[in-house]
Amino acid sequence: MLQFIVQVALDTPLDFYFDYRWVGESADSKAPVRGQLARVPFGQREVVGLVMAVKESTDVPSGKLRDVIAIQEHITPLTEDWLDLCAFAAGYYQRPLGEVALPCLPKNLRVSKPAALVRAFKALDKELPAHSPVMVNKPALHEAQCKAAEAIVNAQGFAPILLHGVTGSGKTEVYLQATEQFLAHTHDAQVMILVPEINLTPQLESSIRSRFPNMAVATLHSGLAEGERMRNWLAAHTGRARIVLGTRLAVLASIPKLSLIIIDEEHDPSYKQQEGLRYSARDLAVWRARQLNIPVVLGSATPSVESWQHGQSGRYQRLELRERAVKDAVLPAVRLIDTEKERPQDGFTAPLINAVKLRLERGEQSLLFLNRRGYAPVLVCDSCGWLSNCMRCTSFMVLHKPERRLRCHHCSLELPIPRSCPTCGNTDLQPLGRGTQRIEEGLQQRFPDARILRIDADSTRLKGSAQAALDSVHRGEVDILIGTQMVAKGHDFQGLTLVGIVNPDTALFSHDYRASERLFAQLMQVGGRAGRTAQKEGGSASEVLIQTRYPQHPLYAAVVAHDYDRFAAALLEERRYAALPPFMYQSLLRAEARSLEGALDFLHQAASLLQCPHIVINEPIPMTVTRVANVERAQLLVESASRPALQSFLKTWMPELRAIKTSVKWQLEVDPVSI
Ligand SMILES: [Zn+2]
Ligand SMILES: [Zn+2]
Repeated sequence: MLQFIVQVALDTPLDFYFDYRWVGESADSKAPVRGQLARVPFGQREVVGLVMAVKESTDVPSGKLRDVIAIQEHITPLTEDWLDLCAFAAGYYQRPLGEVALPCLPKNLRVSKPAALVRAFKALDKELPAHSPVMVNKPALHEAQCKAAEAIVNAQGFAPILLHGVTGSGKTEVYLQATEQFLAHTHDAQVMILVPEINLTPQLESSIRSRFPNMAVATLHSGLAEGERMRNWLAAHTGRARIVLGTRLAVLASIPKLSLIIIDEEHDPSYKQQEGLRYSARDLAVWRARQLNIPVVLGSATPSVESWQHGQSGRYQRLELRERAVKDAVLPAVRLIDTEKERPQDGFTAPLINAVKLRLERGEQSLLFLNRRGYAPVLVCDSCGWLSNCMRCTSFMVLHKPERRLRCHHCSLELPIPRSCPTCGNTDLQPLGRGTQRIEEGLQQRFPDARILRIDADSTRLKGSAQAALDSVHRGEVDILIGTQMVAKGHDFQGLTLVGIVNPDTALFSHDYRASERLFAQLMQVGGRAGRTAQKEGGSASEVLIQTRYPQHPLYAAVVAHDYDRFAAALLEERRYAALPPFMYQSLLRAEARSLEGALDFLHQAASLLQCPHIVINEPIPMTVTRVANVERAQLLVESASRPALQSFLKTWMPELRAIKTSVKWQLEVDPVSI
């Protein structure tokens, strides 16, 4: 009888593989191979693991060796390319391979019996065969778009391409036409398109489906039901889906014939996973393109400084779209309103209110942008100075007036709004500062007949409600839209001619060195929602009004001039001078404990383990929001000007960290985006 030892990677924090015995049921049983999934016993449980190797013998004593329960034979083994990708991500982000690879697979594949898989395959068979890459309703491209699409199609081997195009310049059309040519050129080629947010997938999915009516498209994002996720994952894995569209998690999908990768809005912070395996989907996508020797397109109106630097140095090929795609649509005029001269009332200056009024009279839409949800960030007592601190966090409870609640945005604690000051009994508690709800209230009072809609994380808690809200804006059922960053990206609002930025200044003075880069990108993005179509006869020219106390600030000057290059060059110089990324490579060790001393002690111990040349180990410090849900948090920053030096330091450091006996919870993040 056939018998082998199968080495299996499991989803555990243990950094090694597990040996099991596999015995063939009959003489013609097929031996397991690398890349298959195996159901195995683990402790008292049954789990699914990934076969890493099949061998003749093991050091595990035969009395302790357990048997494989079953090998998943219904799906083709995962490819070497995919295993390499997981191995790279595991190595780079300092995690065991099993902890990286297994969570990438649909849950149904990891837990269920073969019957569910057979069902998923049957559902797949019902879908359209993936045959014709012919695109319908193809618009003519303008010259710069043509050039860009051609450059992508003609790229040879590994070719990172930075597609820098102003908002509304028709980047999506370039993606689609390049995709068509790739699919037409090779009969089984697959293309992966990444977008930063789930909210952007339905819009792009429907335009892809309508343009490629005879092509199977699979979407992958965290909003899918498990059955759907399984079916779509299989469609990608079996090669039936020729286009795979997804959010950051799609970068780790099995796509065996991947031939082109497109990353839309490559600068977007959502590409960074902020828990578990804290990977950058953009960076992994570029690595994957290099490994497969294929082109990767990084598209943005405001590229990240890292990508922009690569574009300057020639490492990335740079393509530019400087004009808007729609004939006679022009970039909106950006104007700064000095709030020292024009004092705001209820958060609005007179010029902004007048501009909104003008749009209302002409039946055009306005968008007011404020990246702070809730009614007011804090409730105060003027007579004794009481503030609505969260009892569990180093932060304030945010006033949510329509919900009649105080809510902590860090730990989700909710309390009723107190009728009087808990300290002195004063009944006149005042909201301080402004969130989207308060802006909405102010506008309702000024424009009682206007149709006003607020879109933020609170107004769109129900599944599908964000899409429904956006749809009603598209249908023209909204006069004034109030929104957070949720509305800033990608959406193409046809009737919008005014964007008002209510209060952007706080980000100018953030302790986070990336805050200004993000603010600039956000302002360009949200401003770019205006004037996507040609100005109507008798209609308003599209404009962006920014209320600020600092109209002299160079960041705003660059926004007014639509001058990304000037801003990026200045930012890069600043980073070079301050020895910050991309001139420095960073890793962050975070510790969580019941007491701050406990967390800091652990980090001091960690810092003293190793001394290495070219590695800077900084002082452990408490995190800015130190306490969240009664847990104290601190961090230790490790830096180096050399990425290989930092990686080799981490490789030695990690086993020593794991050996520390402590009750402190800790994790390591490589290339953190916020510090
Ligand atoms: Zn009081
Ligand atoms: Zn809290």
